[in-house]
Amino acid sequence: MAVAAYPRYSVSEAKKIKSGQVTVTGIISSLSTQYWVISNSKWECPSCNQVGSQNYIPSRMFPPKHLDNTSGTEIKCFDCSSTAFTVSHEYHTAKTIQVIDAGNNHMKITIHLK
Ligand SMILES: [Zn+2]
Repeated sequence: MAVAAYPRYSVSEAKKIKSGQVTVTGIISSLSTQYWVISNSKWECPSCNQVGSQNYIPSRMFPPKHLDNTSGTEIKCFDCSSTAFTVSHEYHTAKTIQVIDAGNNHMKITIHLK
């Protein structure tokens, strides 16, 4: 298997990195079941013609409160309060793996599955 040559870090070093691609050396100690995450929300209001979208990095389990049409509560346009306001979310399946290294450092990593 070909592996890209990213900088190699221990788990404790990798935990300090804010972003970027690295190789982490460790053992997978647990693997979650599959779950859904949201990577983007788009909204549209036919009353005031507002449209917009927002990317989530990292992805989220739930939309932000003002865009949350998943909980059964009615959402309204945040400009004109119209209930014709619609929101759609882009979902991905994900799993979380926990990696542990020889120094007993551990971290959780979320993987998006296509
Ligand atoms: Zn509106």
